[in-house]
Amino acid sequence: MSEQLKAVKGMNDILPPESARWEWFEATVRRVMQRYAYQNVRTPLVEPTPLFVRGLGEVTDIVEKEMYSFEDKLNGDLLTLRPEGTAGVVRAVNEHSLLYDGPKRLFYVGAMFRHERPQKGRYRQFHQVGVEALGFPGPDLDVEVILMARALWRELGLSDVRLEINSLGQPAERLAHRAALIAYFEAHADQLDEDARRRLHSNPLRILDTKNPTMQALVEAAPKLIDHLGEASLAHLEGVKAALTAVGQPFTINPRLVRGMDYYNLTVFEWVTDRLGSQGTVCAGGRYDGLIEQIGGKPAPAVGWGLGIERVLALLEDSGATVPTVVPDVYAVVPDAAALPQVIATLELLRAQGVTVQMHAGGKDGQGSFKSQFKKADASGARHALIFGADELAQGMVTVKPLRDAAAAQVQRPLAELASWGAGLRAPGAEA
Ligand code: ATP
Ligand code: MG
Repeated sequence: MSEQLKAVKGMNDILPPESARWEWFEATVRRVMQRYAYQNVRTPLVEPTPLFVRGLGEVTDIVEKEMYSFEDKLNGDLLTLRPEGTAGVVRAVNEHSLLYDGPKRLFYVGAMFRHERPQKGRYRQFHQVGVEALGFPGPDLDVEVILMARALWRELGLSDVRLEINSLGQPAERLAHRAALIAYFEAHADQLDEDARRRLHSNPLRILDTKNPTMQALVEAAPKLIDHLGEASLAHLEGVKAALTAVGQPFTINPRLVRGMDYYNLTVFEWVTDRLGSQGTVCAGGRYDGLIEQIGGKPAPAVGWGLGIERVLALLEDSGATVPTVVPDVYAVVPDAAALPQVIATLELLRAQGVTVQMHAGGKDGQGSFKSQFKKADASGARHALIFGADELAQGMVTVKPLRDAAAAQVQRPLAELASWGAGLRAPGAEA
């Protein structure tokens, strides 16, 4: 036997029964997006490398060390598997002039790729839901997207996520803060780790985001960007705070909250949980008014977020949430293989009524005993078994046996009425 092939490290298969959880989650996401009138976009998994270098910034974790970049062997193009969704969406919006007739509210669901050290909540292929509201300048939209995440937590039955917000101000304010930050860290150079020393002059703001425990006290006492904000930036932040307060959404201001990408300004936020260890950020985002122009589009403000699906699902699992399982309505017991053509035709009519049907499929040695077919019917979780016995079929009848209700008796029904019986099963208010 040849060597067994395995999936790439940090990239996971999502298989049943786990995949049911994903499908349920994604259906919930689409429902919430619809309520807020956000439209779906699907962009390629591969983009030109310069899109991310220009869009995210050269001195970012992603661009420095996490991108799967390669040269197209056939034409030498430099390509990258998308590490995040925003840059691609903005590229598409520019390329197709999507904002020509006004702002747009968009969302996506899909795989992202980052070469990180795999651990719980951190993978090399992972999946995000993202929303991007493009063309809206005001804090009302910052709050709208924040509340969409809250709606999702509610719909999923999650309560252990809290909201942290901050403002990164405008570029000029960041520059003033940057100078103060460099002076402060230079004065404490002996306490900086290697990463921080490297970033001191290239991207000092990112030092605040360090996960190194020995630097926490130093970073805690560093100059705060919020103290360098001008009137307009403060007013924007106040707008966000007022609306959050009005809708009863608690939040904390976290002055150390900076985002991994360079493109953010003004409002940034994270939804975090204490239940997932150091991978506790389940959803993160903010305003990125400069990005559209930075990658060659007509300037327009924008705000959005990205959510890590694996982390939300882990949180759901940790909080013991039960996912509605899908079981067949009907399991078809077919004792005699000769009846199969007729049975298959009948089951198609049932499925056309929306009924979930699992047909017993025989093995090499035929259909299997009546008893073993019943065992399988029971194990399938189906509500009813349909027994297509040869004698009954000859009389145009089929036996319907309830499997989940011991008190209910089995009855014979005419085959001709089976489709309308099935329609009744799926009707609103039909007993589950
Ligand atoms: P972290 O600080 O945890 O590395 P990040 O700032 O790099 O996160 P973003 O780029 O903002 O993350 O992505 C948005 C969300 O996507 C994160 O909050 C997280 O839930 C999820 N996420 C990011 N990277 C990964 C990964 N490698 N595996 C699983 N989920 C991820
Ligand atoms: Mg990261």
